[in-house]
Amino acid sequence: MKLLVVGSGGREHALAWKLAQSERVQTIFVAPGNGGTGADSRLKNINITDPAALADFAEQENIGITVVGPEVPLAAGIVNIFRDRGLKIFGPSKEAAQLESSKDFAKAFMHRHAIPTAEYQTFSELAPAHDYINAKGAPIVIKADGLAAGKGVVVAMTAEEAHAAVDMMLSDNKLGDAGARVVIEEFLAGEEASFIVMVDGKNILPLATSQDHKRLLDNDEGPNTGGMGAYSPAPIVTPQLHARVMREIIVPTVQGMAKDGIVFTGFLYAGLMIDDQGNPKTLEFNCRMGDPETQPIMARLKTDLLHVVEHAVNGTLDTVELEWDRRTAMGVVMAAAGYPDAPRKGDKITGIPAETADTVTFHAGTSLNEKTLNVTGGRVLCVVGLGDTVKLAQKHAYDVVEKIHFDGMQYRRDIGWRALNRKH
Ligand code: ATP
Repeated sequence: MKLLVVGSGGREHALAWKLAQSERVQTIFVAPGNGGTGADSRLKNINITDPAALADFAEQENIGITVVGPEVPLAAGIVNIFRDRGLKIFGPSKEAAQLESSKDFAKAFMHRHAIPTAEYQTFSELAPAHDYINAKGAPIVIKADGLAAGKGVVVAMTAEEAHAAVDMMLSDNKLGDAGARVVIEEFLAGEEASFIVMVDGKNILPLATSQDHKRLLDNDEGPNTGGMGAYSPAPIVTPQLHARVMREIIVPTVQGMAKDGIVFTGFLYAGLMIDDQGNPKTLEFNCRMGDPETQPIMARLKTDLLHVVEHAVNGTLDTVELEWDRRTAMGVVMAAAGYPDAPRKGDKITGIPAETADTVTFHAGTSLNEKTLNVTGGRVLCVVGLGDTVKLAQKHAYDVVEKIHFDGMQYRRDIGWRALNRKH
């Protein structure tokens, strides 16, 4: 079977890498892909990004199933376009993707279906937004309604910061249409975890748990990023908490969407905040897998991913049982100089070792030029190490990181610290 993976990040490299392990896969096209997918003989990059043009390509090439990585094509309706043309695709429709593409939609949805989340109000006018901040005080969280590539959330520790964030979004239009409405919500304290499931419209199949590291620098300092590293499993998600998240958040979300007349299919990602009593609340929904969570999760998945995705598009996920590598997988992101504000392009990357039984390097912002690998984006690589203990997984990942070089590279030295603290 021929497959198509849409996207160019580390998440898509990991999905394509895993799909390529299936014996039934003939070729996997990655649109547009990156230097890593381009160098793998089982994968083929194609330079198409427009959803309708991708549907033309899928028709011409007789693609069996398309898997979509990022949120932007999902919010633009790529799934609707493919389905209208009778093409099999795994992802949510444009309507279902509103769970991620509009924070106001997601908050109103959670409120309507009694799904635990922070208290909030939505504003499109300046004065009532400022009044609300004055009434609630800091800390408080200001979120642009629309997609803002991770730049639309300000966790304000003071009222001044909160007022400035509202001005930036509503009056200076710094985020364009995405910031034309803002959600202002209660600050939640606790520890975050990523809870990702696959949904076929009705049946829900949870993937392994994971935890991301959002801040640029060690000790969770510095600016927010797309994610500087992730590991799986996340020990904070005990079996009891897992059952509770399914019961209180995931099942009501899938059933609530159906009740509202929107069938959800695709990956559903609940970003959780777990307070010190162990109570989970939903910070956000994403309607796709996380990046970098996908990389360690795929490194641990033993089941044939094509088999799983086929059941997902056919509505029979209830017949699938996933098998996981019992080891911990630790993914360390290596980012370009200047990331996240102004990543520098063009630096030459050297020293990436071949994949082994306990390490694999996924590419993101890279391109292959003849034989030279260059930096083309903010997050460049994600090195995954597997090990019987968190410490060993971490050691395997960092042993590889230390062999790789590009000028100005940035990476955290403490990925996995929460899991290490918990286990020892
Ligand atoms: P992503 O890039 O993960 O899609 P996003 O831009 O959609 O992010 P959120 O995930 O909603 O934004 O928020 C980004 C980060 O801000 C969260 O991971 C969390 O660290 C912090 N955050 C968001 N909401 C709250 C809250 N209510 N209380 C405390 N921190 C919060």
